[in-house]
Amino acid sequence: MDIEDFRKAGYDAVDRICDYYLSLRDRPVVAEVEPAYLRKTLPDHAPEQGEPWADIANDYSSLIVPGLTHWQHPSFFAYFPTAATFEGMLGDFLASSTANPGFNWLASPACTELESVVMDWAAKMFGLDPIFYNEGEIGGGVIQTTASDSALTAIVAARSRYMTLHPSTSMESLVIYVTSQTHSFGKKAGLVLGLKVRALPVDETARRGDGLDATTLRAAVEEDRAAGHMPFVLVATVGTTTSGLIDCVKELGALLKEDYPDIWLHVDAAWAGCALSCPEYRERAQLEGINLYADSLCINFHKWGLINFDCSALWVRERARLIDALDITPEYLRTKHGDAGTVIEFRNWHLSLGRRFRSLKIWFVLRSYGVSGFRAYIRRCIACCDVFASHIRETSGFELVAPPSFSLTLFRILPNGPADEHYINMLNRAFFDALLARHDLLLTQTELGGTFCVRFSVGSARTTVDDIEKAWTVVKDIAKDVRLRFSIAN
Ligand SMILES: *Cc1c(COP(=O)(O)O)cnc(C)c1O
Repeated sequence: MDIEDFRKAGYDAVDRICDYYLSLRDRPVVAEVEPAYLRKTLPDHAPEQGEPWADIANDYSSLIVPGLTHWQHPSFFAYFPTAATFEGMLGDFLASSTANPGFNWLASPACTELESVVMDWAAKMFGLDPIFYNEGEIGGGVIQTTASDSALTAIVAARSRYMTLHPSTSMESLVIYVTSQTHSFGKKAGLVLGLKVRALPVDETARRGDGLDATTLRAAVEEDRAAGHMPFVLVATVGTTTSGLIDCVKELGALLKEDYPDIWLHVDAAWAGCALSCPEYRERAQLEGINLYADSLCINFHKWGLINFDCSALWVRERARLIDALDITPEYLRTKHGDAGTVIEFRNWHLSLGRRFRSLKIWFVLRSYGVSGFRAYIRRCIACCDVFASHIRETSGFELVAPPSFSLTLFRILPNGPADEHYINMLNRAFFDALLARHDLLLTQTELGGTFCVRFSVGSARTTVDDIEKAWTVVKDIAKDVRLRFSIAN
């Protein structure tokens, strides 16, 4: 493909993207294909001779798009969102075009400098303490691929700090603390690092909406230390994946600082962290505790932050802890500025060497939306979710299973007459199966302390109150059918 061919193909690709978004509302949310549909259609090896671009582009539209689940669909209420914007897409497009691995300042000064600036913009938008700003040169922010990578990086730094403080500790005695609702990356970090992981108990039913507290943490640390185990990091969550539960960061942080200062506090706010952009949600989202005590904090822009995957923001209180743990400077990576310490070398702030030029996406989105536009989006998602939660609250035969958390509502249906929990779970599994059979919206399920329930998560950049009302009508009708089916069967 030469430059003029690319010009045509590029315009054509933009046209296809626009047509996709114009038709998105009318598409099924869920792909209507069977397993191996693509293998049956595609040749089993790459073509020997190159093919015309038009054929390739058309195959994308006719073969690939129908096999996609449409995460940007306004009726996508599953998992957590990965809200994409055109501004973010353009950032990705231009970043790809220059193909910079940006590992050193010198490898592409603009990559490092823009990242350093926009991570400060983001820190300020979220109300973070200046200690986390890159401009202060003590802490700082760096873009990672995912929240799992951010947590793993923080845990590696925490281990290195702990081992520096207690050099005679054996690796076998180290323990990573998570809670029973921490994202599965906690377990994975244990597997990758070969370390023990202990899940501290939180209210499994999530009915109160509060997560891990200091009493539980203190009891666990005392018990472990007495048995010769050394907890060195606690992963606390603001907005768990299953239920949106929030650990009491301030209380946990105060205890760690006071009595166990060698235990690192990582706050995983991968999804809910974007709510920190709105002053009215900062208390709920634990800003004070984060600012006072978090050693590291992760917020995924690629979830609820209007930026297409991937873009996970990690802030640390002391950049030296990351660098101490991860600095590798072989001769071929040495530079004048790096040696002088006058520039940030982001390769020492994460696990890999090369890195994508992701700050362009943040820059484009924050400039085009402005902080006020970003906040308006977060508030709209929460308002939409509130509309749905009100319907649940006010309609008999429905029940909120936990207090709504930002833009996430957990609910279940109730049978017409009295019934035990086992029966109610059966009813709700049937209800969820019936929801899954619909392709015009998508919700996901979870289980909380033995209670099967349905998650309703709002976050697509294009969801409106009308879409919520449409979803509510579907949910209400399906619930009626399923209840009726159950009462006849019994
Ligand atoms: C989604 C999510 C994660 C994992 O995010 P990745 O970026 O896919 O690794 C971790 N923690 C929480 C709370 C999440 O919601």
